Amino acid sequence: MEYREFHIDNIRSDFPVLNRKNRGKPLVFLDNAATSQKPTCVIDAISGYYSTSNSNVHRGIYELAEDSENLYHEARRVISEKFNATEKQTLFVRGATEGLNLIAQSYGPLVLGQGDEMILSEMEHHANIVPWQMICHRVGARILVCPTLSDGSLDQKWLFDNLNRKSVKLIAITAVSNTLGTVNPIEKIVSEARRSGVKTVIDGAQCVPHQKFDFQKVDCDFFTFSGHKIYGPMGIGVVLGKTEALEKMPPYQGGGDMIDEVSFEGTTYAPAPQKFEAGTPNVAGAIGLAKAVEYLDQFDIQDIVKHESKLLEIASHGLSEIDGFKEHGITTGKAAVFSFTIDGVHSLDLATFLDAQGIAIRTGHHCCQPLMKSLGVSATARASFALYNTQEEASQFVVAVRKAVDILR
Ligand code: PLP
Repeated sequence: MEYREFHIDNIRSDFPVLNRKNRGKPLVFLDNAATSQKPTCVIDAISGYYSTSNSNVHRGIYELAEDSENLYHEARRVISEKFNATEKQTLFVRGATEGLNLIAQSYGPLVLGQGDEMILSEMEHHANIVPWQMICHRVGARILVCPTLSDGSLDQKWLFDNLNRKSVKLIAITAVSNTLGTVNPIEKIVSEARRSGVKTVIDGAQCVPHQKFDFQKVDCDFFTFSGHKIYGPMGIGVVLGKTEALEKMPPYQGGGDMIDEVSFEGTTYAPAPQKFEAGTPNVAGAIGLAKAVEYLDQFDIQDIVKHESKLLEIASHGLSEIDGFKEHGITTGKAAVFSFTIDGVHSLDLATFLDAQGIAIRTGHHCCQPLMKSLGVSATARASFALYNTQEEASQFVVAVRKAVDILR
């Protein structure tokens, strides 16, 4: 396949929001781990759907409904093909949070019972902690937490020792940390887990913009991600699930569209994916997400990784000499997420200073309170890069942070 040339000016012109100002200065958007900006083709796909094809799906026999239905099916086909799953294995949800809740609530009780254990890692986002706490509490299972080492990597010795415990039935783990940027060895973890009969749930929210993911190859039981972090719209996400698991799982929610037959005596359910998609779906969201996937697929992922790594390097190198500076997460090959603290400078003050310069970064616990505790901080500042960020922006960020330190400390 012929890839599109990685030309930063052309890429930036695909993203109209990058032309706006932030506090009167040109916007430098470095909060991509929270959400990414949308290319014109995604915006047009959504607007085009509402302008020409809007109708509810699965219900009408008229041409407009047929058009809408076809577009929705085509979106599922594009997305399943991208991740090497079948259409029946591809469920639309609102995002990774809903995906993880669906998996925990519907699949959790099938594998976790009284006295069983499951593994999470210390670096998980709350979305991959709280749903499991809720289900473990309900069924009487216990959560074991894999520690993070000082460089931000997983304690693999702990992990592989504990995967062998007889009582461990499931592991739910992020592919990429939203705070440390750490890229976890997912294929190795899944294959070790499989050997021990442990089921695997992968939180792919942060990996999809930076890595290729092949559902069949990785061979996990579940994978989930949000559309809005991969240049697609908010309010749409995906769960990929193994067929045998989806067949056994009860529905997550009840309502229209997920049934086979309903009577007051009882209801039978449609097969997956419909079984898990009660109610009117986010058709425009699915169409927008498919367009985002196609947009990203124009590029060689290696070009994106190389570009984003350079931005990380500029940031890391440019700030490392500051007295009291600490980068949290320094594993080699990490994703383009740059979390740091600077002694004597509160991250909130820093972010406020940068905001006034047009630079948008994130501060806080990044929905990782347990990780913050283990890092011994209450918050970090986080700059996260995307394919449209430039080296000039990374340098501008460095200059602005240095200036902030001079003024604030
Ligand atoms: N998992 C990870 C690693 C994340 O970074 C996030 C969001 O930041 C989520 C899950 C939850 O994603 P969403 O809020 O889109 O459902």
